[in-house]
Amino acid sequence: MIVVMSPTASREQIDNVEKKLSELGFKTHPIFGEVKTVIGAIGDKRQFNPQVITSMPGVENLVPIMKPYKLAGRELKQVPTIIQVGEARIGSDEITVMAGPCAIENEQSFIDTAIKVKEAGAKILRGGAFKPRTSPYAFQGLEEDGLKIMAAAREATGLKLVTEVVDTRDVELVASYTDILQIGARNMQNFRLLQEVGMYNKPVLLKRGLSATIEEWLMAAEYIIAGGNPNVILCERGIRTFETATRNTVDMSAIPVVKEQSHLPIIVDPSHATGTWKYVSALAKGAVATGADGLIIEVHPDPAAALCDGPQSLKPLKFSQLMKELDTIAKAVGRILL
Ligand code: PEP
Ligand code: MN
Repeated sequence: MIVVMSPTASREQIDNVEKKLSELGFKTHPIFGEVKTVIGAIGDKRQFNPQVITSMPGVENLVPIMKPYKLAGRELKQVPTIIQVGEARIGSDEITVMAGPCAIENEQSFIDTAIKVKEAGAKILRGGAFKPRTSPYAFQGLEEDGLKIMAAAREATGLKLVTEVVDTRDVELVASYTDILQIGARNMQNFRLLQEVGMYNKPVLLKRGLSATIEEWLMAAEYIIAGGNPNVILCERGIRTFETATRNTVDMSAIPVVKEQSHLPIIVDPSHATGTWKYVSALAKGAVATGADGLIIEVHPDPAAALCDGPQSLKPLKFSQLMKELDTIAKAVGRILL
């Protein structure tokens, strides 16, 4: 439920209400707005007498939260969440582009690619050190050596990093190197992993599961926020449908739906969505036009030789051309890219 404080409520009155709610077993999430403060109270309401709270000084009223996602939804928090990562303000009027290879393969090629995506206007560098592969015989990533290479690329370029963590046992290690923790599509409902990253003070890029509904996806975000980490970036990366012409089917309608239902930023991954580099530009442009807050795009200097996801990777030159086209679309929809 939401406890709405009156615009004239004092700080002391707000603190008293929070204290009372905690005593009653609720977890509290105050949101200090420009006009008034509201306190999200999450917990078991079965034994709860609303009058205990409504009779307290400074309380205006009590409103139930109808959606199952209490903290990720717009009922409690109406203003969009903006997540600052280095220069990027994800969820603001700026479009944030994250780019880089699927997997880190070696330092030279990774740093060269990092320099090129930075020149093209990307703000965040992507790369996988722990790869969730369908086959146990496929390249699984360089693990900590890969993270070290990522840190060297950040040092060389100033770009911030996003990389995937696939297991609860690795969160501490990955968090010690990266700026954004990525939860992959296959792990979207790995609830222990969501709880674990919820305990870190690091933005989380939460990819949509292959067959997850928008509600399930927002509930996954809820796990992270409920754990104490409000900095969740949602990423639509295509879902499984009957269509086989593309690797997945990108759900563009998720963008306006998520924008309506949630205050969290949403970006699109046109690379995993299509699986084919030729379609990446069209979908990237569509995503920006549809209201996405950013993109995450796979870029590789020699896709034919890539150890992972070469067929969907753009060459740096193509990526740079795409960024210019995206800039035009961004301007047309009142956003800033380059
Ligand atoms: C990735 O970003 O490299 C990746 C594995 O993505 P997804 O989890 O969306 O398949
Ligand atoms: Mn990939």
